[in-house]
Amino acid sequence: MPGLVQHACFGCRKVCNKPYSEQSGTEYPCPNCAQLLHVMGTAFRAPKRSDESQWRKVEELSRAGIWFVLNGGRKPQVLQEVAQFLEARAKAKQSRGERILARIGKPARAVTPKDQCRLHELQIGGNRKFALAGRELKPWMTVMFRDGDEWCAGTFRITDNGGNLVEPHLQIWGGKILIIGAQTVLRWPES
Ligand SMILES: [Zn+2]
Repeated sequence: MPGLVQHACFGCRKVCNKPYSEQSGTEYPCPNCAQLLHVMGTAFRAPKRSDESQWRKVEELSRAGIWFVLNGGRKPQVLQEVAQFLEARAKAKQSRGERILARIGKPARAVTPKDQCRLHELQIGGNRKFALAGRELKPWMTVMFRDGDEWCAGTFRITDNGGNLVEPHLQIWGGKILIIGAQTVLRWPES
């Protein structure tokens, strides 16, 4: 049973609970205007319909890839804080990326702070979900991982070949397994 997750239409300032699962994905039209709804997360609380400023705030956060989940950290209280919040977030990512680059030496290709990141775990409807750079990373998707000064491809899995839940890992060359730890740097293949 997929868990219900709040979805929002920013045009209509409406929310609805929709099942969200790896199978169903996120493609729901707004029942009012038929534009695609945005996944907000289980802990999202919709502002009053008349509160334009609060709706613009949550829209900007959502478009920056932020989900509203339990224990998801402090969020801006008002629209005026959003720019600073996103800037601080980008800066934190950048300095982490720069530290990594300093440690491993010159990369084979230019790596922007945006395209290297850590796996984030989300709790949605009691299920474990994973996200990379604001996009859901689903089992069997191909993802690139940093190996020394190279990027290599792996297949994301959270079950072993017997179907048992295990730590998030990558299946890599030669049938090897790479457990994704706090230090594992990943990126999407196309970035
Ligand atoms: Zn709508």
